[in-house]
Amino acid sequence: MNYKLNDKVLLKKPHPCVNRTKEFQIIRMGADIRIKCLGCGKTILLSREEFEKRLDKVIS
Ligand SMILES: [Zn+2]
Repeated sequence: MNYKLNDKVLLKKPHPCVNRTKEFQIIRMGADIRIKCLGCGKTILLSREEFEKRLDKVIS
């Protein structure tokens, strides 16, 4: 799957925050990937492997 910096993505599982959204935005890409929950604004750091495992689809 193709994704790049600033893309909005849909993950398979919702963030366990009050908004329970599956929408995240890629805010940093390197060896690891940092994504931001678009519900609560918290960021999560994932390895590329883990990110791709959790990724459902790229929205934009
Ligand atoms: Zn959240």
